[in-house]
Amino acid sequence: MSTEPNCIFCKIVRGDIQAVEIARDAETLVFKDLNPKAPTHVLVIPTRHVTNLGDFATSATPHELGNLFALAAKYGREASPGGYRVVVNEGPDAGQTVFHLHLHVLAGRPMSWPPG
Ligand code: 5GP
Ligand code: ZN
Repeated sequence: MSTEPNCIFCKIVRGDIQAVEIARDAETLVFKDLNPKAPTHVLVIPTRHVTNLGDFATSATPHELGNLFALAAKYGREASPGGYRVVVNEGPDAGQTVFHLHLHVLAGRPMSWPPG
Protein backbone atom coordinates (compact mmCIF):
# COMPACT_ATOMS: atom_id res chain seq x y z
CA MET A 1 0.00 0.00 0.00
CA SER A 2 1.39 3.44 -0.87
CA THR A 3 0.60 6.39 1.38
CA GLU A 4 1.71 10.03 1.38
CA PRO A 5 3.43 11.29 4.54
CA ASN A 6 1.50 14.58 4.74
CA CYS A 7 -1.93 13.49 3.49
CA ILE A 8 -4.56 13.64 6.25
CA PHE A 9 -6.50 10.62 4.98
CA CYS A 10 -3.28 8.59 4.59
CA LYS A 11 -2.62 9.44 8.25
CA ILE A 12 -6.04 7.98 9.11
CA VAL A 13 -5.24 4.87 7.02
CA ARG A 14 -1.95 4.44 8.92
CA GLY A 15 -3.58 5.11 12.30
CA ASP A 16 -1.43 8.21 12.87
CA ILE A 17 -4.58 10.22 13.56
CA GLN A 18 -7.85 8.99 14.96
CA ALA A 19 -11.13 8.54 13.11
CA VAL A 20 -14.30 6.63 13.86
CA GLU A 21 -13.84 3.64 11.57
CA ILE A 22 -16.89 1.82 10.21
CA ALA A 23 -15.16 -0.79 8.05
CA ARG A 24 -11.74 -1.57 6.66
CA ASP A 25 -10.19 -4.06 4.27
CA ALA A 26 -6.90 -4.08 2.38
CA GLU A 27 -8.17 -1.75 -0.34
CA THR A 28 -10.77 0.44 1.34
CA LEU A 29 -11.60 2.31 4.53
CA VAL A 30 -14.98 3.69 5.64
CA PHE A 31 -15.04 6.26 8.46
CA LYS A 32 -17.20 9.04 9.86
CA ASP A 33 -16.75 12.56 8.55
CA LEU A 34 -15.39 14.87 11.26
CA ASN A 35 -17.84 17.64 10.33
CA PRO A 36 -21.01 15.80 9.25
CA LYS A 37 -23.41 17.51 6.83
CA ALA A 38 -26.24 15.01 7.48
CA PRO A 39 -27.25 12.65 10.33
CA THR A 40 -25.19 9.98 8.55
CA HIS A 41 -22.05 11.24 6.79
CA VAL A 42 -19.35 8.68 6.11
CA LEU A 43 -16.37 8.77 3.77
CA VAL A 44 -15.32 5.79 1.64
CA ILE A 45 -11.69 5.93 0.52
CA PRO A 46 -9.11 3.72 -1.13
CA THR A 47 -6.34 2.87 1.35
CA ARG A 48 -3.70 3.71 -1.25
CA HIS A 49 -3.09 7.39 -1.89
CA VAL A 50 -4.83 8.66 -5.01
CA THR A 51 -5.73 12.31 -5.46
CA ASN A 52 -9.12 12.25 -7.15
CA LEU A 53 -11.72 10.20 -9.02
CA GLY A 54 -10.19 10.81 -12.43
CA ASP A 55 -6.80 9.47 -11.35
CA PHE A 56 -8.44 6.52 -9.61
CA ALA A 57 -10.62 5.66 -12.61
CA THR A 58 -7.57 5.45 -14.85
CA SER A 59 -5.40 3.45 -12.42
CA ALA A 60 -7.73 1.18 -10.43
CA THR A 61 -8.64 -2.38 -11.25
CA PRO A 62 -12.33 -3.00 -12.02
CA HIS A 63 -12.55 -4.79 -8.65
CA GLU A 64 -11.07 -1.83 -6.77
CA LEU A 65 -13.37 0.63 -8.51
CA GLY A 66 -16.45 -1.52 -8.00
CA ASN A 67 -15.64 -2.23 -4.38
CA LEU A 68 -15.47 1.49 -3.54
CA PHE A 69 -18.92 2.19 -4.99
CA ALA A 70 -20.41 -1.02 -3.57
CA LEU A 71 -19.36 0.08 -0.08
CA ALA A 72 -20.92 3.51 -0.61
CA ALA A 73 -24.20 1.84 -1.59
CA LYS A 74 -24.05 -0.60 1.32
CA TYR A 75 -23.61 2.08 3.97
CA GLY A 76 -26.06 4.47 2.30
CA ARG A 77 -28.79 1.82 2.24
CA GLU A 78 -28.07 0.75 5.78
CA ALA A 79 -28.35 4.34 7.00
CA SER A 80 -31.61 5.21 5.32
CA PRO A 81 -34.30 3.19 3.54
CA GLY A 82 -35.63 6.52 2.22
CA GLY A 83 -32.53 7.16 0.15
CA TYR A 84 -29.04 8.52 0.35
CA ARG A 85 -26.63 10.61 -1.67
CA VAL A 86 -23.08 9.83 -2.85
CA VAL A 87 -20.91 12.85 -3.67
CA VAL A 88 -17.40 13.01 -5.10
CA ASN A 89 -15.80 16.44 -5.38
CA GLU A 90 -12.90 16.74 -7.81
CA GLY A 91 -10.91 19.94 -8.00
CA PRO A 92 -11.35 23.44 -6.60
CA ASP A 93 -14.48 24.30 -8.61
CA ALA A 94 -16.26 21.33 -7.01
CA GLY A 95 -15.03 22.23 -3.52
CA GLN A 96 -12.50 19.44 -2.99
CA THR A 97 -10.49 20.24 0.15
CA VAL A 98 -8.77 16.92 0.91
CA PHE A 99 -6.76 15.63 -2.03
CA HIS A 100 -7.14 11.92 -1.35
CA LEU A 101 -10.15 10.48 -3.18
CA HIS A 102 -13.22 10.08 -0.98
CA LEU A 103 -16.85 9.24 -1.63
CA HIS A 104 -19.18 11.16 0.68
CA VAL A 105 -22.20 9.08 1.73
CA LEU A 106 -24.93 11.32 3.12
CA ALA A 107 -28.24 10.11 4.56
CA GLY A 108 -30.87 10.72 7.18
CA ARG A 109 -32.50 13.93 5.97
CA PRO A 110 -34.22 15.17 2.81
CA MET A 111 -31.78 16.78 0.37
CA SER A 112 -32.42 19.42 -2.22
CA TRP A 113 -31.34 19.44 -5.86
CA PRO A 114 -29.34 20.94 -7.50
CA PRO A 115 -26.52 21.08 -4.96
CA GLY A 116 -24.88 24.47 -4.38
P1 5GP B 1 -14.07 17.51 0.32
O1 5GP B 1 -14.42 18.97 0.60
O2 5GP B 1 -12.60 17.35 -0.01
O3 5GP B 1 -14.98 16.85 -0.66
O4 5GP B 1 -14.36 16.76 1.69
C1 5GP B 1 -13.42 16.60 2.71
C2 5GP B 1 -14.16 16.07 3.91
O5 5GP B 1 -13.22 15.57 4.85
C3 5GP B 1 -14.99 17.14 4.65
O6 5GP B 1 -16.36 16.72 4.70
C4 5GP B 1 -14.35 17.20 6.04
O7 5GP B 1 -15.28 17.40 7.07
C5 5GP B 1 -13.65 15.86 6.15
N1 5GP B 1 -12.44 15.86 6.98
C6 5GP B 1 -11.40 16.74 6.88
N2 5GP B 1 -10.45 16.43 7.79
C7 5GP B 1 -10.89 15.33 8.45
C8 5GP B 1 -10.32 14.53 9.49
O8 5GP B 1 -9.23 14.77 10.01
N3 5GP B 1 -11.06 13.47 9.91
C9 5GP B 1 -12.29 13.17 9.38
N4 5GP B 1 -12.92 12.11 9.88
N5 5GP B 1 -12.84 13.89 8.38
C10 5GP B 1 -12.15 14.96 7.93
ZN1 ZN C 1 -3.60 10.15 0.95
